[in-house]
Amino acid sequence: MLIPRSIKHCRTCGGAVRYEIPPDDNRDRAVCTLCHLVHYENPLNVVGTVPAWGDQVLLCRRNIEPRYGLWTLPAGFMELGESTADGAIRETVEEAGAHIELEGLFTVLNVVRVGQLHLYYRARLLDTEFAPGPETIEAGLFREAEIPWSDLAFRTVRATLERYFEDRRKGSFGIHCADIG
Ligand SMILES: [Zn+2]
Repeated sequence: MLIPRSIKHCRTCGGAVRYEIPPDDNRDRAVCTLCHLVHYENPLNVVGTVPAWGDQVLLCRRNIEPRYGLWTLPAGFMELGESTADGAIRETVEEAGAHIELEGLFTVLNVVRVGQLHLYYRARLLDTEFAPGPETIEAGLFREAEIPWSDLAFRTVRATLERYFEDRRKGSFGIHCADIG
């Protein structure tokens, strides 16, 4: 687990928690020492898009840590109350101010080491007017040969872009599942 024993206080009563294996369970959980609430910790979903304009793909340069200054596809943590598609569109609007039409689900990437699942959709850009938000230094379009491969922010972005251009050359897009170490 990425950050073991990271919960210190009960989210209901504020009491101290203790990590222990509850009865009928098989792994350590944060259990409140006062009200005995068990706090379950589960993977977080990151949703994003591969926005395409002809043979170009939209990348954003990060204006925030981690990986400040490096390039990424628009993506971020899914919010409560939205679907994976809603979240992917929202992140693309927030980070790039891009207008898109969502296409198929493209990559499903387990990042077990950090307790995350990353989902990327293909998307069609409706125009090339971008209005990057505060999390983005600049947004731009890149052909395959122009992708800043050594300045990409995340391995899931690299994995998604590699598969995207591979499928593009083949002329058909599949859905790709992979484990990212
Ligand atoms: Zn409690």
